[in-house]
Amino acid sequence: NLTQRLSGIVKNLRGQARLTESNIQDALREVRLALLEADVALPVVKEFIAKVKDAALGQEVIGNLQPGQALIGVVNRELTKLMGEHNDALNLAAVPPAVILMAGLQGAGKTTSSGKLAKLLREQNKKKVLLVSCDVYRPAAIEQLRMLAQQLDVDFFPSDASQKPQDIALAAHDFAKKHHHDVLIVDTAGRLAVDEAMMAEIKDLHAALKPIETLFVVDAMTGQDAVNTAKAFGDALPLTGVILTKLDGDARGGAALSVRQVTGKPIKFVGVSEKPNGLEAFHPERMAQRILGMGDVLSLLEEAQRNVDHAAAEKLAKKMHSGKGFDLNDFKMQIVQMKKMGGMSALMDKLPAQLSQAAANAKVDERQINRTEGIINSMTPFERAHPELIKASRKRRIAAGAGVQVMHVNQLLNQFEQSQKMMKMFSGKGAMAKMMKGMA
Ligand code: GDP
Ligand code: MG
Repeated sequence: NLTQRLSGIVKNLRGQARLTESNIQDALREVRLALLEADVALPVVKEFIAKVKDAALGQEVIGNLQPGQALIGVVNRELTKLMGEHNDALNLAAVPPAVILMAGLQGAGKTTSSGKLAKLLREQNKKKVLLVSCDVYRPAAIEQLRMLAQQLDVDFFPSDASQKPQDIALAAHDFAKKHHHDVLIVDTAGRLAVDEAMMAEIKDLHAALKPIETLFVVDAMTGQDAVNTAKAFGDALPLTGVILTKLDGDARGGAALSVRQVTGKPIKFVGVSEKPNGLEAFHPERMAQRILGMGDVLSLLEEAQRNVDHAAAEKLAKKMHSGKGFDLNDFKMQIVQMKKMGGMSALMDKLPAQLSQAAANAKVDERQINRTEGIINSMTPFERAHPELIKASRKRRIAAGAGVQVMHVNQLLNQFEQSQKMMKMFSGKGAMAKMMKGMA
């Protein structure tokens, strides 16, 4: 899958000096295959690869990143860009009722999402919502929404299969206006595949209702097909957003990329369960990272970049890389930087499981960090540079100065030793060193 492939890329590139035309070629082929495997449509893949290539070659000019990091950084940024830079909220700024029209194929999740959205708008936005179904084709469709509305305790406008969809919609609109509903959510009929009659009907509904939001509801598990459906609906209707449902299934995420690219419209919500609360705001960055499967490594890198003193960190990174001359002065600087980044626990949360375990083994906790800083402050510069020369009498003096016991000084010296080992482990691959240095 995509995650495995991408971590494969990192592995393959690890240890190489930098990105070259040829190793980029290999890596990009992997990314390409990964995206195709994830069901991203071919034209979308092609465009994406071209962008990543451009950006990656640009990175090579800067040239001070590990190849794997540079490429993943680029892939992540481009993925995020493609999916939209931020979450787009619903626009409800209309003369009440603000109408939300739900469009999409049968089984996409329109009715379920209508209910979820009603619940969400009531609970999070304190809106008075009315639900109505214009699905006069499937016998149970109206009843399905009625029961959902009842279960969620949301107002429901009754309709029946003998009526015309447009008439139902307009009657519901009148009712909502009279009864001061803030939002009217209009559920519609879908077909198993795109057909003329369905498109004509939803266009008519759109013309009659003039909705402020026209949401294209699409099943994430339909992969490649999602592209064609999205194109058909996007051509027929001025869509304002997308709801991507069934992301909790084994959806491979590709639909998110394709639908966004094809419609040019933001994904506003994702469906993550069948349950009424299974609708969440869509976050492009999180989605990109989820696809990359790297925990929050990238945001950690960005945080490091914001907080770390670059010149000093560069020196430190060099020392750590060579494994020489890394002393307690550096250790202290490292502690100060960790504090700036939100402390050890925040740091660990963001590391992938393996690294986090390694860090945890070093048994560094927050209180210890503060005490450590105090103890190092009580040392002379000479002692900091030569911890191996700190013997009993020096330890007593340092402990007294820091207001701790000799035992704590010993602990620190052990901890420093462990940390050196940890640094060596990470800096061999450049990971920790780059982290401290920040990412260009
Ligand atoms: P409609 O034909 O577009 O109205 O689709 P429905 O709302 O009736 O949904 C079709 C099926 O998909 C139902 O069984 C829903 O429970 C299910 N469904 C919808 N959204 C989600 C989701 O986000 N996750 C899961 N697991 N199931 C969903
Ligand atoms: Mg339905």
